[in-house]
Amino acid sequence: MTTDTTETVTGSGIAPGVTQGTLRFFAPAAETPRAPAAKGEPETEIERFAQHVTSLIEDLRETVARLGDDPASPGADILRSHILLLEGSSLRSRVEETIRSSNLAAEAAVEHAIEEIVRVFEGSGNPVLVERAPDLRDLAIQLRQRLVGQRPSLLAGLPQDPSECILATRELLPSLVLEAHARGVRGFVVDRGTPLSHGAILAQSFGLPVLRVARLETLWSLDGSRVLLDADRGELLVEPAPADLAPRLAEVPPVPVPGPEPSSLARVWLNVMDPDQLVGVDWTGVEGVGLYRTEMLFLGGRGGMPSEEEQTRAYRALFQRCAPGRATVRTLDIGGDKALPYFSLGPQDNPALGLRAHRIYRFHPEILLTQVRAILRAAAGFPGLRLLFPMIECIEEWRFVQGLVDQAVDSLAADGIEFQDRFERGVLVETPSAVWSFRRLLEAADFASVGTNDLIQYLFAVDRSNLNVLRTYGPEHPVVLQVLAALARDAKKAGKPLAICGKAGSDLALLPVLIGLGITDLSVPINRAQAVRARLATLRLRDCRRLARECLRAETPHEVLELLGRPGSPPGPDVVAPRGADWVDPVCGMAVHAEGNPLTTVRNGRRFYFCSPECLEAFLRQPAPPDTKLRSKLSAP
Ligand code: PEP
Ligand code: MG
Repeated sequence: MTTDTTETVTGSGIAPGVTQGTLRFFAPAAETPRAPAAKGEPETEIERFAQHVTSLIEDLRETVARLGDDPASPGADILRSHILLLEGSSLRSRVEETIRSSNLAAEAAVEHAIEEIVRVFEGSGNPVLVERAPDLRDLAIQLRQRLVGQRPSLLAGLPQDPSECILATRELLPSLVLEAHARGVRGFVVDRGTPLSHGAILAQSFGLPVLRVARLETLWSLDGSRVLLDADRGELLVEPAPADLAPRLAEVPPVPVPGPEPSSLARVWLNVMDPDQLVGVDWTGVEGVGLYRTEMLFLGGRGGMPSEEEQTRAYRALFQRCAPGRATVRTLDIGGDKALPYFSLGPQDNPALGLRAHRIYRFHPEILLTQVRAILRAAAGFPGLRLLFPMIECIEEWRFVQGLVDQAVDSLAADGIEFQDRFERGVLVETPSAVWSFRRLLEAADFASVGTNDLIQYLFAVDRSNLNVLRTYGPEHPVVLQVLAALARDAKKAGKPLAICGKAGSDLALLPVLIGLGITDLSVPINRAQAVRARLATLRLRDCRRLARECLRAETPHEVLELLGRPGSPPGPDVVAPRGADWVDPVCGMAVHAEGNPLTTVRNGRRFYFCSPECLEAFLRQPAPPDTKLRSKLSAP
């Protein structure tokens, strides 16, 4: 809750935490001149470029050596990947070719060549590759600075002392984050990037919160304002009243002392979608990877399914980074909200209820056979392997999938290839029919995990990605809690561990209820793991059980939220950040399409979109400019 006078800008947190400071706008690329004073012959330009690549590599090596002793920091690994990019032939030869073919100065050739590579990354549709684009832009700026003889610093152009600032900048370039951290910057506001970017991974490792908003330019007028950045709640409070500051800053979870004792209440695991995310991870009190979403591997690159060899390499990287812990690999869950651009799933009016995961293997068993062969080959010598099967609705689907897994095992044995033949098999509970089949499934499976993201969607028949129905989508609904309680009872009776790997598992307020219900394992995003551990360390089982009983007696989500000490309405369009080009109709509050929507008008330099002529007319009749709350809704991403 905020006081009525505080202006609030909403967004989404891509690195957690809460901080306060002065908002300062900064564009590192704009600070570097583009053209050289004089341009030489192509061979001279190539020579100049080569010299500066060498000097940049030397500087990066020095920084790596400085950072290298700290195993908890991913900085050294990230900079090592930059060195590899600079040493590799593809970047160098592209710049050299550009200098020769376009007769450009080295500065301009660097910019052109790197932008070309960035376009390929960004057009790949692979979220991990897309998030490597800032690394290349970072190197381009550093090379250009050196080529024009500028002092190599990404913060060089910032006139004010950046300490105690919150930087508003387009995207997080890794070296900008490193330098900003060293100079006392407290956090970032961006309008590009995800938690997968190296910049976000670094910011998180330094405890610097990052908020992503829809469009940075809508905040220009706030340059120099005192702000409170609450990335946990996805909010930026402008000139916050003291009453807004105190509770938020007090809410910052205590930084856990890296203790040897994991919480006895539940084991904490990590959710990842790319083994690279594990570089520099703090494994303190963490059991292993509880959910590796393998879909990302299938989204990238060549425009086809990755081969068994390619998959084997990727899974090997995961196991190497997890050892000696355990790793839970979820088999491919395409369909529904995760489509592959190169694989048609046929006509589907309702993809969430259509071909998805193992339903596809009825037509293409080779997809699962290849994947399981690759996983088992990569896990040779890694004893902590667990396979997790998504979207299993009932025992016959489980048996069908296990039949394919057994076939993969037999084929590897017949081929005489080294592979891991001891692994656990887990069922991912994501549908109401799996809930009703749970006892039978537990007899067959070694462990179970609840995919609350999908389970809530299918329990309530509410699309998890539709902003206008999210009011009905929340883990705090007593119906969800009753389902979880039943699953936990059955798992306990069967003596099998039960995890939550959906978003609900990292909801700090809900945590005592989940523990009280009997959940034994929590698999959470990397950037939530230590906060979840810290929260678990504050809980007592007896209190958790009492709270869970009270919540199970509640009739509405509001009552549960009150019991959790979080009164207010459950998520709805007014508090959930709209995505992409979707905006909020300022009259009715509905998320509407911006693109191609003719129902639009501009007021005070800002464009508004509407669901109907009636809402547009009602808006045009309003004489007053939109109030602060309205504006904050409109600035969400
Ligand atoms: C879930 O549904 O809760 C889950 C973990 O899977 P995903 O979000 O990848 O569908
Ligand atoms: Mg799911």
